[in-house]
Amino acid sequence: MHKLYDAIIVGGGPAGLAAALALKENGITSILILERDKELGGILNQCIHNGFGLHTFNEELTGPEYAMRYIKMTVDASIPYQLNTMVMNIEPMEENGNVIKLVTAMSSEFGMQILKAKAVILAMGCREKPRGALNIPGYRPAGIYSAGTAQKFVNIDGYMPGREVVILGSGDIGLIMARRMTLEGAKVKLVAEIMPYSGGLKRNIVQCLDDFHIPLLLSHTVIRILGEKRVEGVVIAEVDENLKPIPGTEEEVKCDTLLLSVGLIPENELSRNMGLDMSPATRGAIVSDDLETSCPGVFACGNVLHVHDLVDNVSKEAVQAGKNAAAYIAGFSGSGTDLHRELDPETALMKKFAARNATKNGVNPNDVTTSPDGSVTYTLPCINCPAGCIVNVTVKDGEVTSVTGNTCERGETYARNEVTAPVRIVTSNVKVSGGSKPVISVKTAEPVPKDKIFACVNALKDLCIEAPVATGDVVVANVAGTGIDLIATAEATV
Ligand SMILES: Cc1cc2nc3c(=O)[nH]c(=O)nc-3n(C[C@H](O)[C@H](O)[C@H](O)COP(=O)(O)OP(=O)(O)OC[C@H]3O[C@@H](n4cnc5c(N)ncnc54)[C@H](O)[C@@H]3O)c2cc1C
Repeated sequence: MHKLYDAIIVGGGPAGLAAALALKENGITSILILERDKELGGILNQCIHNGFGLHTFNEELTGPEYAMRYIKMTVDASIPYQLNTMVMNIEPMEENGNVIKLVTAMSSEFGMQILKAKAVILAMGCREKPRGALNIPGYRPAGIYSAGTAQKFVNIDGYMPGREVVILGSGDIGLIMARRMTLEGAKVKLVAEIMPYSGGLKRNIVQCLDDFHIPLLLSHTVIRILGEKRVEGVVIAEVDENLKPIPGTEEEVKCDTLLLSVGLIPENELSRNMGLDMSPATRGAIVSDDLETSCPGVFACGNVLHVHDLVDNVSKEAVQAGKNAAAYIAGFSGSGTDLHRELDPETALMKKFAARNATKNGVNPNDVTTSPDGSVTYTLPCINCPAGCIVNVTVKDGEVTSVTGNTCERGETYARNEVTAPVRIVTSNVKVSGGSKPVISVKTAEPVPKDKIFACVNALKDLCIEAPVATGDVVVANVAGTGIDLIATAEATV
């Protein structure tokens, strides 16, 4: 006889954890989170940069800090979870007029488990599109990675995947890795983007490319990879309006590493195998307004449903999934099927993407205009949050005389600093000895002058700290003479 849970959640990333907390808040206590990784937190554990949580916590956190808040809430709420456990299959079956879900999971500790649940919440996240999806000619040499794989090597395992790097695709992960590889000492030669606009946020173009003078070549792609055993270079070419390479524009770029940042797709093997109706546009399951899939009592949220830009939106959506699943569980003696209503996510999403691109690409950042009275107006995108407001700052005789276009106070502060004394939060990682992890992430407790970024990162190069390390511990006091401390943003136990 298998134990019947009220709810099983597949995936312990931000979506899974927020859904679990919402279930608990809505009176459901028999919950189990199944996570294939060795820790909770999902993809956020490797996203050591800042920029998370502005909406949820009204603070700018790093990925591990955001994850840690949800992990702590989950532990405090005594919600059970099982790590190192891969869900292999979910099968609905009829039992006393109800649709029960049989969840098959595999773990080294418990072997194969077959668990039963009234409701299942799918929160498996997404994965990166591989090179195979791109059809770039050439051999299959070492040195080609997806940007997320490279991110895991550098941020979690403490390895550098290469020294001379070309990045294909200007989505946020590609932009973030351009900065990360640069801070770790690599030369990022360029970022090539096949579209005439970047797929990433303006804030990331400014702080990941412009800050380090990394060229972004729009309407360009990689048409050939050179090298047999290891990447020795790539050939890039400009593309026309049909995205076809223009003959005569080919250029060889020497590099030992090609990072691909060409998009994410929902991790949907399970959803497809269980026969859920899938959307060809989002590649996620089709859901009702209640986030319920075509199988009664199976809900989906987060990146497994459609790829989100912002983790705050993932958390918000997951709360809804948890609430709706709780309502489903409460009415479980009925068939539950009448909860299911279809909606067309394609239309809504297409509108969202169109609107986003319009705001992203409508203004030319960093414009500078000089007036006859000698005042200079800088037009720049604010990097404080993903809204990327375009702000005009006028400076006369070294004094800021006006700031317009910002929609919050932080925007004004940013714009004033940016034209007088620009500052940045620096994030990186540091080696740890005798601990549960080889490296842990760190950040400056406050923004430091932009020209001190490399000095801050270099202060960590030959440093190895001893475990245990807790989040918030000072790793380097007064780093690079800035008067600001570098603090741990994750923990390493002994
Ligand atoms: C590189 C990168 C940079 C980002 N930068 C930002 C940023 O600056 N600001 C921001 O707000 N957002 C950012 N995001 C987005 C944000 O991190 C994601 O939207 C969010 O983490 C998605 O949460 P999730 O729970 O849906 O998925 P995930 O975090 O991917 O979690 C899914 C979990 O499910 C588990 N899982 C999958 N399949 C199974 C299975 N079969 N059995 C058991 N477990 C399974 C996985 O191991 C994983 O732990 C970034 C994302 C990436 C990838």
